Parts: sequence; structure tokens; C-alpha cells
Amino acid sequence: MSADLLNELVAVVGQSHVLTQGDLSAWELDWRKRWRGKALAVVRPGNTGEVAAVVRACAAHGVSLVPQGGNTGLVGGGVPDASGTQVLLSLARMNRIRELDRANLTLVAEAGCVLQAVQQAADDAGLLFPLSLAAEGSCTIGGNLATNAGGTQVLRYGNARALCLGLEVVTAAGDVWQGLSGLRKDNTGYDLRDLFIGSEGTLGVITAATLALHGKPAATMTAMASCATLAEGVTLLGLAQQRLGAGLTGFEAMNAFSLSLVARHMPQLRQPLPAAPWTVLLELSDNESEAHAREGFEGLLGDALERGTIGDAAIAESVAQSHTMWHLRESIPLAQAQEGLNIKHDIALPVSRIPAFCEATQGALERAVSGVRLVNFGHLGDGNLHYNVQAPAGIDAAVFLAEREHEINHIVYDAVAAHGGSISAEHGIGVLKRDELVQYKDATALGLMRSLKAALDPQGLMNPGRVVL
Ligand code: FAD
Ligand code: ZN
Repeated sequence: MSADLLNELVAVVGQSHVLTQGDLSAWELDWRKRWRGKALAVVRPGNTGEVAAVVRACAAHGVSLVPQGGNTGLVGGGVPDASGTQVLLSLARMNRIRELDRANLTLVAEAGCVLQAVQQAADDAGLLFPLSLAAEGSCTIGGNLATNAGGTQVLRYGNARALCLGLEVVTAAGDVWQGLSGLRKDNTGYDLRDLFIGSEGTLGVITAATLALHGKPAATMTAMASCATLAEGVTLLGLAQQRLGAGLTGFEAMNAFSLSLVARHMPQLRQPLPAAPWTVLLELSDNESEAHAREGFEGLLGDALERGTIGDAAIAESVAQSHTMWHLRESIPLAQAQEGLNIKHDIALPVSRIPAFCEATQGALERAVSGVRLVNFGHLGDGNLHYNVQAPAGIDAAVFLAEREHEINHIVYDAVAAHGGSISAEHGIGVLKRDELVQYKDATALGLMRSLKAALDPQGLMNPGRVVL
């Protein structure tokens, strides 16, 4: 049976795009090297018609499909399981920008376009595609939309969902839904676009998207400030929103331990401020000029210093200094990996409740694990923390992960629930949080999700075992 299917797939995409032998770890092993699967074949279609034909062939044989873009997802949703029975559908060859409409401020990109290439296409036209994350050199628009990715500009421009006006999707039956309209208003019934965004490949395959573009700011400037407490970081956020309005495009927070890991593992990176319990990174985008941006920052930070909200501050004097500040923030994931595996949580909370959440959860974790170390950093402006729990110094990280992950997840997620938060802010559910979703998601919502899955994918072949069971 699988030989028949493989022959049909070869007939659709060509022999060279059906891979079954050799080292397939680029597709079978996830970015964190936590999940290694085995694919029946890696299939690489070159256009939407081929994707539809592949889906139909798999459906006829009852074979399940795992869509994949850049394979940078962090929840194990984009690699096949270990059964050797799933087809890995790579969208990487579908990487054309089909169209750019300056007057409508839209761009149509195929799913396999790398995010950086989309940013570049917008930039070449004097416009901005603001979705931005550390994986932008490898992740794809299809993956960004399938996971409703966030990143560092959500505060001003919203997440991937807010930047998508239309989709082209191959359904589980192998039909093509042409929904690429670049309309900002369209009230013609249920919003199918929003259903596929964030569905992590479980409802259909995204093959192209119409993306919203923005005007480029005249100047972008970065600053850092130190705070004695996270509550003061939240106060600074309120002050910055009040004074800078829509000019505030980034607001990231990093605890002292996060930056100490960067100092230890990347000593060549200069840290502009002395160590403090919390360091905040602010980005200001100004539509007038650099001088106006600087005035905005000086006014804000001067005021915050006077009020005692911050202890110290530095405004980047050049583009290079600005990059250094962002580089520090973006180096935290790598620095923590070099320190050893840790237990990751990508959580969202109402900004107002973040200080109380952190105090309560840190207390509970310290009672459970003496000497526990918290790599607590993230997009404070969006109420999104990467709240990662590192083994105490001297304890083997892999053993810690194996023995304590379940218990620690409970402590963190119970506190998230108690503070009105979400167990996944931007990375999705995948396999990593599938079981926890059942515990922490509203039961009625889960029931509706299962009904939708059954209606759109009655054979259960689209990325099975991920998100909802
Ligand atoms: P993949 O990993 O290939 O797939 C992710 C999921 O989407 C899988 O479930 C897959 O089946 C599905 N999928 C992929 N393509 C399609 C398609 N065309 N149609 C249907 N389903 C599809 N995420 C954030 O939100 N914010 C961050 O700041 C951020 N920073 C990161 C930093 C690093 C260093 C890394 C490694 C990852 C980061 N991520 C972040 C996570 C990841 O980059 C994003 O989730 C990204 O959007 C995934 O894109 P991808 O193309 O690599 O998707
Ligand atoms: Zn993030």
C-alpha cells in the first residue's frame, strides 16, 4: 500500500522531491532536538495544485500528513511521530512572493517564504512587514500563521493573526480554498481565516497568505533601563505607553539571571547597564525624525528616573548600539541552552497581574526545589513571559528535566490559571502542551475545538495527535 502511495506522490511532485532515504534529520528532528520522528517520506511540492494532489493521495490511502515550514517550532508540532507512517509535507519550495499592492498595503506570499524574505520584499518597496522574531532567518510565513507567532513587535502591530488579511488553504479533502482577498472588511459569515491561523496544521495546509504592510517609521531607537522590581517595570510600561503612544513598538524585560547567563556564555557581548534585578529594553519608532525620537526617550526616561521608577538608563547612540541591545535580549534562549536543558513556559497574563504572579510562583518553586533558578524574560508589553525553570547549580539538567518537569509545570500552570492567564502565549500547543490543554482550557471551548476538528478533518489525517485529541 505504501509503495502505491509513494508512486503516486512521485507522479505528483517528481522523484527528486519524495525523500525516503539518507539523513532526513533536517525534517525529522525538531529545533530543540527534543522530538525525533520517522517519516514514511518527506514530500516537497512546488505549488498549490501539487499540495492538493498530495493531500488527496494521502487521504485515499488513509495516511496522515504533518505540514512543515522552517522547522523552528518549539512545541514538537512540525515533526512526524516515530511510527514511520506519516508523510512529512514540506512547504519550503513554495517560496514566491506572488504580488505586492502598494495602494492596498498588502503582499501575497507563499507559505514557504522565509519571514526575513518577506520583511525584505516589503522593505524594498519602502514599506514595513513588522512581524519579527529571533528565528526570522529560518521560519516561514506558513509556520508563522499556523502557530500565530508573536515576537517583538506585537505591542504595536499585533501578532501574525493581526497581520494576515487572507489565506489560501488546501483542506483535508484536498480542495483549495481561495481566500486571498486583501480586504480589511468582509462580514460574509464565519471567519475561516481566523480558524486556520493558529491551528498548527491540524485543520488544513496553508499554501499562501495576503499580509498587511505598514509605513516605515522615519527613525527607530532603542534604550535600556534598570528596575529594582518587576512592578516598577510595569509602571515604566504604563508611563511609556502614556508618553509615547503608538511610538512604543517594543517593551521587553529580562531578569538578572537571564542576563548573567548571556554574560557567562557570550562574554564578548557588552552589557550597557550594570546588573540589576530587572532590565527593560524599549524600542521607539518615530514618524518624524531621529531627533524627535531621542527627545521622546529622553523625556520618558528622565521622568522615570525622577520618579524613582528606574535606577539607570542608556539610549543607543547608533544603529550598532541598538543592535547590541537587541542582540543581548535575543541571546538569552541560546545562553540558557548552553547552561543546560530547562523547563520552558511560554505564558500570557494580564500585565497588571504579572508582578503578583511572579512573586507567588517564585515562592512556590523555591519551596519545591531549593536553589531553583529562573530564566524569566519576555515581551512584558504583551503580558508574555518566557518563564523558564533551570536546575539548581550543580544538578544535572537532563535528570532535573526528566524527574521534575511534570511537577514544575503544575506549579507554574496552576499559578497562571489562578492569575487569569494562558499556558501558551505564542509558541502553540503541539505535542508539548497537548495534555495540559485538557486541564487548563475551558471544557466548553475544548468541546467546540473537537467539533471543528471532526467537521474539517473527518478522517483525522491532518497532523494528528497535536493540539486536540
Ligand atoms: P514549523 O516549525 O515548520 O511548524 C510549526 C507548526 O506549524 C507545526 O505544527 C506545523 O505542522 C505547522 N505548519 C507549518 N507550516 C504550515 C503550513 N504551511 N500549513 C499548515 N501548518 C503548518 N515564536 C514566536 O511566536 N515568537 C518568538 O519570539 C519566537 N522566537 C523564536 C526564536 C527561536 C530561536 C526559535 C527557534 C523559535 C522561535 N519561535 C518564536 C517559534 C517559531 O519560530 C515560530 O513558531 C515560527 O512561527 C514557526 O515557523 P516555522 O516555519 O519554523 O514552522
Ligand atoms: Zn517570545
